[in-house]
Parts: sequence; structure tokens; C-alpha cells
Amino acid sequence: MLSLNYYFRIKSNVHHPFHNFKLRPFLVRLQEARKSFIPVFFSRVLNILADLNLLYLQPTLQPINNFPPWKVSNLHILNPFESFNKSDTADIIYQQIFKEHRHQYRGFVPLYTDGSKSADQVSFAVVFQNTVSSFRLSPACSIFTAEITAVLHALERISKSVQRGFIIYSDSLSVLNSLKSFHDHKHPLVFKILDLFEKLTSQGFTILFSWIPSHVGIDGNEEADMAAKSASLSTASTIPVNDLKKYIKQLLFFKWQGQWTLETGNKLHTVKPVVEFWPSLRNRKADTILTRLRVGHTRFTHRHLLLGEHAPMCSLCNCTVSVHHILSECSNFNSQRLRFFNTTTISLPTLLGETPHVHLFEFLKAIGFYSLL
Ligand SMILES: [Zn+2]
Repeated sequence: MLSLNYYFRIKSNVHHPFHNFKLRPFLVRLQEARKSFIPVFFSRVLNILADLNLLYLQPTLQPINNFPPWKVSNLHILNPFESFNKSDTADIIYQQIFKEHRHQYRGFVPLYTDGSKSADQVSFAVVFQNTVSSFRLSPACSIFTAEITAVLHALERISKSVQRGFIIYSDSLSVLNSLKSFHDHKHPLVFKILDLFEKLTSQGFTILFSWIPSHVGIDGNEEADMAAKSASLSTASTIPVNDLKKYIKQLLFFKWQGQWTLETGNKLHTVKPVVEFWPSLRNRKADTILTRLRVGHTRFTHRHLLLGEHAPMCSLCNCTVSVHHILSECSNFNSQRLRFFNTTTISLPTLLGETPHVHLFEFLKAIGFYSLL
């Protein structure tokens, strides 16, 4: 994961000395001929990408930042709905406010933008003077990228127009805020938009931005929303590095989970079938013991391997002693189980799960196992 993150960061940064690195044939031949050679970083990453079928992923180039820290954005963002709370405002109120707002800004041509992300597709749409354009992006893109690409696309449409006054409507407050406070943002399209906006402004365009609530029956927004969801045309798009990082993390977790699911014979798998983060206990000693129980390897059950002895046997049940046997099987400890867990049959996941049973350690002490772990 770290290698891929680093690789995509290099590929997105035109100033990086390795940005244009090419694997020269002689290097490839050398690596092929001498297997003891550790392949160079780029060879290793390309192998990983080929393994994961990700060779097609292209990161978006980080644009050169023409906006020094003292520069403020002259972007104007309207919010006619500012004083309303979405949870206690009826749709009809929003529609009326919007009509009034449109009347006030009737000299400005409206453009509605929207982005959409579902399990298998990311897309955006722009509604502009009775024409709707919608495109699919790479499924690795985030919803933020979809929303901001829509705004960029709207500006591109405006640049070809003969009119001069426009309002771009977006239902993504985070995108509009990023254009206003762009110094805190690293998203490559933020700067592309600001660049284009400045260019258009200098050509005499007046472009305003406005937030509108989604799903309250504002026609242009509804139309953009539907168009984005049903987009079928793909645009050859690149993916911002931060989206790629999230996508790769998800993908690798998915792959990891796939492998772990097959490990049905593994003792830890019974207790923890899902790959995820479990917090450790605050007491180090207790945490060590809990981990040993979860992986099913303790001093008592496994020391014979080191000492070359026979595995310990349960004299009552005439079987090999395992963590599972002691904690949930052996009838020798039924009375203690009743006392601490109110049952004689208790499963390992209940005892050793993400939050271990509150009486686990008392039980271990009562049966004399605690000091042997
Ligand atoms: Zn037993």
C-alpha cells in the first residue's frame, strides 16, 4: 500500500525527479538475468499493479499553484437558503425561495451541476440551457471529485458561450467552500477551476456560484441528479492522488479479507473472521494474555514444542489440551463457567471478541489457567 501511494504521488508531481522515470531495457534485462538483484522500485510497483489489474489507473497531475498565500479568492458564493434548516423546512418553502432568488438574478443564466457515487459508478452531470451532459468517471474517484468535476465542466461550457452572466448551482457545500478557502485544499481541480475562473473573468464573464439543497424539488437540480445517476458515457479521466489512496486501501482490505476468509482452520479466524482494527486493552499484561488466547497459542498448550515433550493431555476428557478445550469445552470447569458466565456452554467469539467478556480474567484465575498462560 505504501509503495503504491508513493508511486502515485511521484506520478502526480511533475517536479519530482523520478516523474518521467522509464525502465530502460538494459535494466529490465539485468533484472531478468540476475534474480538475486533486488528489482528497482518502479519494477516492483509495476508488478504489484499488474497483479491487482490496476495498470490503467492514472493520477491527476498536481497543477502548478499560481495562488500565493496572500491571494484571496474573488469568487462569489451565494446562499439564498442560509437561514433555513433542512430538517424543519418544507420542500415547497425551498422551491419558493429559489423562485424568488431566480427572479432577482434573472439576468444570469443558470447551470446546475451534480455528482453521484454508487457502489459501481461515479459520475457527474451539468444542466445548461435545455442541454444535459453527463459523464462517468473512474470508480476510484470520490464524490467530492465528481461534484467538483461537474463545476469544472460547467465553466468549460460557459467559456464557449456568447452570453456573459452565469450562476453555477451546486448542492455540494464542501466543493463551494473549497473554492473559497482554497489555501487549505490540495485537490488538483480546485486550482484548475480557479485558473479557468480567473481567465473567464478577465474576458468579461461574470460567474457567480450558489449552493442549492438537493432533493427538495428544484427542477434543475433534480434533472442534474437524475442525469448523473444514469450517465453512460465515460470520459477519459485521471484520478486525484488522495482518491487513489483511499481506493487502494479499500481494494487491499478487500483482497486481504478474501484470503482471511479461506483460513478456516486458523484459530484466530474463529474469534475474528473480519479483518478490522480492534483496540488493545489498557493493561499490557491483560492484553498479552488476551492476544495469546485469541491466537490459541499459550505457554501451557505449546511449551512442549520447545521442550521436545508430548502435548499436554486432559485427564478427564482424554484429549489434547487447547485454549478452545479449556475455555469452552472441558466439563471439568462447568461449575466455574456457570458461576462467571451463567452458562456451561460459551463460545470463543463471545469470550474473546472485540470486547472480551467482563468476567474472562476472573474465570481464568478461578480455574488456575491465568498463571500458566
Ligand atoms: Zn477436558
